[in-house]
Amino acid sequence: MSRFWSPVVQGLTPYVPGEQPKLQNLVKLNTNENPYGPSPAVLTAVRDAVGDSLRLYPDPNADALKDTLAEYHGVARNEIFVGNGSDEVLAFVFQALLQHEAPVLFPDVTYSFYPVYCGLYGVDFVKVPLSATMEIRPEDYRQPCGGIIFPNPNAPTGIGMPAATVEQLLIDHPDAVVVVDEAYIDFGGESAIPLTKRYPNLLVVQTLSKSRSLAGLRVGFAIGHPDLIEALDRVKNSFNSYPLDRLAQVGAIAAFRDEAYFQQTRQAIMASRDKLAAQLGELGFEVLPSQANFIFARHLQQDALKLAQGLRERAVIVRHFKQPRIDQYLRITVGTDAECATLVTALREIL
Ligand code: PMP
Repeated sequence: MSRFWSPVVQGLTPYVPGEQPKLQNLVKLNTNENPYGPSPAVLTAVRDAVGDSLRLYPDPNADALKDTLAEYHGVARNEIFVGNGSDEVLAFVFQALLQHEAPVLFPDVTYSFYPVYCGLYGVDFVKVPLSATMEIRPEDYRQPCGGIIFPNPNAPTGIGMPAATVEQLLIDHPDAVVVVDEAYIDFGGESAIPLTKRYPNLLVVQTLSKSRSLAGLRVGFAIGHPDLIEALDRVKNSFNSYPLDRLAQVGAIAAFRDEAYFQQTRQAIMASRDKLAAQLGELGFEVLPSQANFIFARHLQQDALKLAQGLRERAVIVRHFKQPRIDQYLRITVGTDAECATLVTALREIL
């Protein structure tokens, strides 16, 4: 540990990302990427934007992208914040909206970046246990807090929360910001965006990394009351006025304009997910109900880490968490039907 590091940096436990394999012939089902690739319209738009204009700074406000998002989601431009992936949007959220005297609440089993941000920005937090069926229950959040954040569907469980339940949390906490991280919402969940009209304390965060297959382009956004958006803009403009590069802005616009491709690919992923869930059930797994592009399942006889290692030996990578309570589960990204079939064949060999 370097003696030159600040106490904050010394105290950090950085997030360890899923394995990024270099080998070509691996079936990579460990980081919830989309197997289909972005819309061809995105590739054309990005290619067309590669040119002399790259010498110019991008639009710092990303107005054209915000207008596209505003029209798509039925909100106003000043209700939108855009950032370099939803991870960056969330970083601004922790700095601008979740830093208060009282602790932030989030589930004990959830996106592992939340405690990392708390460490980085000095935010106190309390982890609220999931129910016996691994659900987030509003009644467990009835305590003084400086904000609430959770993914919907939750990660890594994949379990979705109906909008009415999100609304219950908003009713219970009129004086705290409630942040709904909807990274996986397009795979069958119910978005809370319409609730932003009625609840000035609601912020919804989404990403283009999953259902739009643009994890490599790094675009995320938040939708909420203009006051919340202004706080995020203040933080952003104090760090870097140009978070989204030119290619990301045009690529993201093109993604939202190709509705047919979006619908086709997300439907294909949901169909593959449901088929894979049934096959895993037949192989002796207990499968949590997923509204995401991944499945969270545990085998009733076999150790999860051994299964993950057995799959790795057969060139299939899935995610295993060492965390108590979920260390017997595997998180499996839904790939193409062919990739899912390779996974099932490998599991049959192991079991
Ligand atoms: N929230 C959740 C719940 C996630 O699982 C992820 C992706 N791992 C993100 C946010 C961040 O996604 P991105 O930065 O690619 O938008």
